[in-house]
Amino acid sequence: MAGLLRRRGNATPGVMPFAATLERERLAAPPTWSALRPTTPPTSGVRMPPILEARDVTKVYALGKTRVEALRAVTMSVAPGEFVALMGPSGSGKSTLLQLLGGLDRPTTGEVVFEGRDISRLSDGQATKLRRERTGYVFQAFNLIPLLNVRENIALPFTIAKAPKDWKERVRQVIDLVELTGKERHRPDQLSAGEQQRVAVARALVTRPSVLLADEPTGNLDYTNSGELLDALWRSCDQGGQTIVLVTHDARAAAYADRVLVIGDGRIQEEIELGRRPDHSAAVLIERLAQVGL
Ligand code: ADP
Repeated sequence: MAGLLRRRGNATPGVMPFAATLERERLAAPPTWSALRPTTPPTSGVRMPPILEARDVTKVYALGKTRVEALRAVTMSVAPGEFVALMGPSGSGKSTLLQLLGGLDRPTTGEVVFEGRDISRLSDGQATKLRRERTGYVFQAFNLIPLLNVRENIALPFTIAKAPKDWKERVRQVIDLVELTGKERHRPDQLSAGEQQRVAVARALVTRPSVLLADEPTGNLDYTNSGELLDALWRSCDQGGQTIVLVTHDARAAAYADRVLVIGDGRIQEEIELGRRPDHSAAVLIERLAQVGL
């Protein structure tokens, strides 16, 4: 229990040997999603520098004379290859934290360190480059282009950034990952909501970002479609070593993560280490949340 659930204050990043292995392999060779690797239970011990960190981050929004303290001194980190969920009630600061981690916004005070570099004071141009080249984003809304088919929507980032030589193979691989092979020529209105969101995931992954940031990606999906979407995210992490930060208020979604940070009132209140589990049972997480009165 002590190793699984930590009060904030003595928290250390969840650093795992399997993550180290996956990251090394990911850097050495492109992911081959279909090459299934066995799921290895994480254990602590091997230290790798975090890929992403928030250090004493605050965010204050000013609305006229009113100040909203969305984040109050948040410190957290994400290890390479780790799947972290940010969980908490509406208005607790989850999306604000995700936006700061992805360079979509800047903290009021504190630092956000991405791959060893403080990104909290980047110029607009530098932040845009970072978002385009190093991060992938998935939102609750699918944001697909209606006139483009699946393949064209997924290849869209390569029309903005320079396309690598193997872009066609990359598109094929992510279509395989999200299990849309055979539907490459379908337009969004010819797909279910779940399939559309899986296209959005594939589009976010096709550039091989260091970190995938997902903000309530199952918010518009029913139970079955949510499960398929979460399965696709998990495959990208477990088989491809993709680092993921997922915002959700749903324990079922958070239960896919290796580690859950529970946010309340702009602070990280609990850190729950679940480990890499192929069954994604939410019962374990719900039980631990209940143990700490959440
Ligand atoms: P969550 O994602 O957990 O629902 P948010 O991060 O969206 O929470 O919001 C945290 C707090 O900050 C809320 O009180 C919200 O109203 C406020 N907030 C978020 N974005 C803005 C903004 N652009 N301007 C003013 N207040 C904001």
